[in-house]
Amino acid sequence: METFEEHYSSMMDTIHRLMPSADFALIDKAVDYANNKHISQKRKDGSPYIIHPLAVAQIVTEMGLDMDAILGALLHDCIEDTDASHEEIEKLFGSTVAELVEGVTKLTRADFSSREQAQMENLRKMFMAMSKDIRVVLIKIADRLHNIRTMQYQSPAKQISKCQETMDIYAPLAHRLGMQKIKWELEDTSLRYLAPKEYNEITAYLQEHKEQDESFMRTIQEKITQRLTAMGIHNTTYGRIKHVYSIYRKMQSQGKTMDELYDIYAFRVIVDSIPDCYNVLGHIHDLFNLIPGRFKDYISTPKPNMYQSLHTTVIGSQGIPFEVQIRTWEMHETAEYGIAAHWKYKQGTGSGSEKDFEWVRRLLESQQDSDAEEYVQSLKIDMFDDEVFVFTPKGRIVSLPSGSTPIDFAYAIHSGVGNAMVGAKVNNRIANIDTKLRNGDIVEVITSKSAKGPSRDWLNICQSNQARTKIKQWFKKEKRDENIIHGRASFESEMKRENLPLTAITEPELEAQLLRKLSFDNWDDLYAAIGYGGLTAVKAVGRIRDDVNKALKAQTAEKLPQSPLRLSPDSEAVRQNRHAVNGVIVEDIDSCMIKFAKCCTPVPGDAIVGFITKGFGVSVHRADCPNAKNRNDPSQAGRWVRVRWANQEEQPFETTLELDCITRDGLVLDVAQALTTARVRVKELSGKDLPGGRSNITIRFEVKNTAELEAIRAKLLNIRDVTGSKRGQN
Ligand code: MN
Repeated sequence: METFEEHYSSMMDTIHRLMPSADFALIDKAVDYANNKHISQKRKDGSPYIIHPLAVAQIVTEMGLDMDAILGALLHDCIEDTDASHEEIEKLFGSTVAELVEGVTKLTRADFSSREQAQMENLRKMFMAMSKDIRVVLIKIADRLHNIRTMQYQSPAKQISKCQETMDIYAPLAHRLGMQKIKWELEDTSLRYLAPKEYNEITAYLQEHKEQDESFMRTIQEKITQRLTAMGIHNTTYGRIKHVYSIYRKMQSQGKTMDELYDIYAFRVIVDSIPDCYNVLGHIHDLFNLIPGRFKDYISTPKPNMYQSLHTTVIGSQGIPFEVQIRTWEMHETAEYGIAAHWKYKQGTGSGSEKDFEWVRRLLESQQDSDAEEYVQSLKIDMFDDEVFVFTPKGRIVSLPSGSTPIDFAYAIHSGVGNAMVGAKVNNRIANIDTKLRNGDIVEVITSKSAKGPSRDWLNICQSNQARTKIKQWFKKEKRDENIIHGRASFESEMKRENLPLTAITEPELEAQLLRKLSFDNWDDLYAAIGYGGLTAVKAVGRIRDDVNKALKAQTAEKLPQSPLRLSPDSEAVRQNRHAVNGVIVEDIDSCMIKFAKCCTPVPGDAIVGFITKGFGVSVHRADCPNAKNRNDPSQAGRWVRVRWANQEEQPFETTLELDCITRDGLVLDVAQALTTARVRVKELSGKDLPGGRSNITIRFEVKNTAELEAIRAKLLNIRDVTGSKRGQN
């Protein structure tokens, strides 16, 4: 059991030593606050919970972070584990500290464990992306370091999962942030639980050979120190065995046993100045045989994580190779604590600002670490700006292009999910499907078996190619008729734009040639392809433009006056003829099959709308037809098109009138008489007696337009005992 007192005084000693000007009253206030909040909680070994925040605050201090970070570390588990709130912490300790605690809480709640190797990089990126303030990451790393130091009290299952997560996420992050010392400790401790047999073998071997190793290192160290001191170079030189995990990795990758492994010694020479570094290098190469190709100058070319040193590998008199790292004290500090060491110099320049974060970001983006090949994979970073990371409700992480919406998310899960999507929840709240997702959002797609499939608008909303492709595929498969109409509209308007006559494509001689050029069997297939977006109209027309123009020229030369190809595509008469089918113009579509809906039998003058049917062209309804009411339904939106009447008065339209009448003998005859007088072309006339002395007379007849219809209606209403009329709705 560990006590509050020992941890408290150890932390305070560290702060006094490293940050003597700290506000100790404020630190005590945070310690008291956290202690009260956690008072009823115990660590797994029975120690009071507060020892954990105290230890984390101590690590954060050792990292060289600032007051806010120390307070944040002391309070880091308060929001997650106690009734403390953001507001309360903000009131007592300021908004920066509250933000830090909030940030750590967010990372604690997110699940960064994953079995899938492919997810690792995303997890690391999201971890960084979620932490708006780099101090959040550093506190979280300190938190993990203390937790892993006290892993022995956890269950074996928890040990494995936490250590794996540490290897996957925390150690690589510590590496990228240049924190070698912490990285090594995270790796070695994790290895102890993940590969206990190998870990024990290595440590046992090292223990067994301790004397040998130490005497070897002492010999080398003395040789170096003697020379440097003789040359008047002030230096601190020591040897060390490489850390356990790096030995483990060497054994694994080279398939060697400990006995066969030589390259486990590293020497460090720390000097006062950069010129001294290069002087030392010369002396090392003079004292030992150098192994060619192993010298690296990270002083003139620092690693992106700010690491600077000279590296060389040489062979001593016993034939054992070892590495020598030469650096100044400042470089040493940076190598041990990385970005955190840098923090010290940044203090007072708006700590925790976006600018600091920018700096880390650039660092992580540019990092190419050829020295530590194990991480090369993980360093391929194109992060933050162009990606957003969100969770499924089960905690799986999904990476999407930034600006992505629940639509993109749904299609990233599965095309079936996207196609059945009717809504979405973001962080457990109903959200619009065009909501821009943010890092760490938990997204849930609401699906329905009766979903009508994606809407064309989605193509404009979604950000990912994946979603766009899948939506297009759906339209290609499910909406062939609709695609043909839309595709034809784009194709024809592009032809018009290029001044090419549409009649060209049905010219018997030309048609086959053009289709061959386009690699389609028939025009509908081409239109369908354009309609679903597989091919643009511009591209299609571009492919046949020269052929059509050539044919046009040839015909002009032959002076075929009546050739349809010679009609000017812009003449109004032609336009009307070409557009109108059965007296109706479908907007943007030149000639497609038209039929009049039986339910409402529209006539010229009626306000009308068109509906793209499956296989029968456009069906024209009166705008007030009940069947046209659902045209605002988004799932149907793509199938309703604008239509209008052409000015073709000659063509008659069939319509139906129902007359309400008081029953009397001879009434039907009177009606027939009136129709004959008005020269109405009657197709059908029938009467039906209703209860209560009333009857109905139904007349089906042809008219040219609504004006004529209204004139006829007025005449019929003048007949005695005809009390009303309505348009047919059968
Ligand atoms: Mn914690």
